[in-house]
Amino acid sequence: MPDSRNWFSIPPAHRQRTFPASSRHGVNITCQGRSLINFATNDYLGLSQHADIRQAAAEVLQQQGLGSGASRLVSGDDPLFHQLEQQLAAWKGYEACLLVGSGMLANIGLLPALADRHSSIHADRLNHASLVDGARLSGSKVRRFPHRDMTALQQQLQRDHAHRKLIVSDGVFSMDGDQADAAGLISLAEHFDALLIIDDAHGIGTLSDPRGLTAGHGIAGHERLVEVGTFGKAFGGYGAFILGTEPLINGLRQRLRTMIYSTAMPAAMAHAMQAALILIRQGDLTAKLQRHIRLFRQACDGLPLLPSQTAIQPLILGRDEHALEASARLREAGLFVPAIRPPTVPEGTARLRITLSAAHQETHILQLADALRQVLCI
Ligand SMILES: *Cc1c(COP(=O)(O)O)cnc(C)c1O
Repeated sequence: MPDSRNWFSIPPAHRQRTFPASSRHGVNITCQGRSLINFATNDYLGLSQHADIRQAAAEVLQQQGLGSGASRLVSGDDPLFHQLEQQLAAWKGYEACLLVGSGMLANIGLLPALADRHSSIHADRLNHASLVDGARLSGSKVRRFPHRDMTALQQQLQRDHAHRKLIVSDGVFSMDGDQADAAGLISLAEHFDALLIIDDAHGIGTLSDPRGLTAGHGIAGHERLVEVGTFGKAFGGYGAFILGTEPLINGLRQRLRTMIYSTAMPAAMAHAMQAALILIRQGDLTAKLQRHIRLFRQACDGLPLLPSQTAIQPLILGRDEHALEASARLREAGLFVPAIRPPTVPEGTARLRITLSAAHQETHILQLADALRQVLCI
């Protein structure tokens, strides 16, 4: 029997995964003693370091300390959680909202709460790992459909006779930066009497409508729609939220095991996220991010970027070594751009995953475009 030292057999290609013990200052990241411009953060609006957010968190920290001490259902609840839930529901256009510890916890709790072994789940092939795991945990019959393929999904639904059907999709896809056909998904949900779950972790706060993909398509608050968002990305914090109709969210308060059996987030975080919401609602930071996305795409004209209009701008290089080498050369040029390889993305589609932020300056973005041309010799 192996002991703990040789329990895992990790393929050589994956051994380079390390925690770089990096620290961040503004738009810079310090890795192994070197300061680089960070193009690998989901802090799309730079809010994690914003003065208003620091202050909001500090106020509550001063008054009541850090940990909440228990699950919300025991003694960990706080009026700040209820305020934030109401503000998020009103802003996003839903009847009700429930806070959860993180996006991962939201999804691995939500799908088992909504579906069981008598249900079926139809999932986009490129969904985030948290939705994949949530679907597995639910014990439902899971059918994956080709990425964004509404015809294939329709055919799957036609053959599905389960009592309860769920369609599950990312909003903005985390590795490709493209967007779900939200209108197509909701009309299939209506036609086939299914519930639609959209996880818009990367869309909320970043799209031209800062409320995210469902608002942009006019379907936010639809009674067949349940939406998941996270504070870990554009909100610059940590935690997540689920939005839906009042009865559905009430049901989740009784059934969401990852909320019931987990310590509530710090109240200081909830207060900081109220401050983040105020900043996001003002719209200036999102507008700045949108300008950066347009500038980057113009400056990269002719490079093999995927056709993404979002803050996630992947550049497909194919072989793992190509992506690793390009990433290493960008690092020499002072730019931090990670290489993303299988199994996170499909075989043969290793890529540079560039994320843009409102915190960048235009010169940073032009510098990256120049460096990409040099590294790729285009
Ligand atoms: C990042 C991400 C999550 C996980 O959210 P955390 O709050 O970081 O746990 C879930 N779903 C999607 C689509 C994501 O991109």
